[in-house]
Amino acid sequence: MNFNLLTLFPDMFPGMLGQSLAGKALERGDWSFSAINIRDFATDNHKTVDDTPYGGGAGMVMRPDIIEAALLSIPQAKQGRKIYLSPRGKVLNQARVKELTTQQNITLLCGRYEGVDQRVLDAHDFEEISIGDYVLSGGEPAAMILMDTCIRLLDGVMGNVDTADNESFGANTCGLLEYPHYTRPSEWIAGNGQTYEVPDVLKSGNHAEIEKWRKEQSLKITEAVRPDLLD
Ligand code: SAM
Repeated sequence: MNFNLLTLFPDMFPGMLGQSLAGKALERGDWSFSAINIRDFATDNHKTVDDTPYGGGAGMVMRPDIIEAALLSIPQAKQGRKIYLSPRGKVLNQARVKELTTQQNITLLCGRYEGVDQRVLDAHDFEEISIGDYVLSGGEPAAMILMDTCIRLLDGVMGNVDTADNESFGANTCGLLEYPHYTRPSEWIAGNGQTYEVPDVLKSGNHAEIEKWRKEQSLKITEAVRPDLLD
């Protein structure tokens, strides 16, 4: 999988994606990226990439001609799916992530300031994806999150191929949140002086009972925290 990043801050990449599983996968060539500096396509001496909004209002808007020039520097065949990270977009979820991992190339446009001129999105059929109902100061952290969610699903990146299906939002958890995890020691005295034990069922060796308990916990947690997922 290859990601083209259109950004004013190319040095932010690979950032956290150069570490741990994603970092090893990058070294192996399971995924690749190219970070394109939008500012390199500015045409004036000051390297201006933004201007004031038509109609007035706060902040600056990124210019369409400069973003387009940056986009067109990527060969057409490597542009793939074009996504603008935006709080206005459809919210990223595991189903969307799974679908994105079927793509070989994805171009991610990272906005700054008030965002980008609408016309470049229209002219190049950018779809808009949000990583949640809050506003970041730029699209780069959103791009990294989107990339991380995709990369961990690529073949060979996670040790155990079943892992993703057993996690929150996975196929084996029926799209619900995951059950609680426990490891050694089986009895633990916390700093507050209380003793916390691992639930007996998890030490029983009875796999059917363990499975049942996990499903019940999954449902209970989802009901309490994310009742919307039950729909
Ligand atoms: N004026 C915009 C609005 O109200 O929707 C917010 C602009 S924000 C300060 C600057 C950039 O951060 C956006 O262009 C977008 O690329 C990125 N961004 C902010 N929040 C985001 C989110 N929740 N998901 C994805 N990208 C986001």
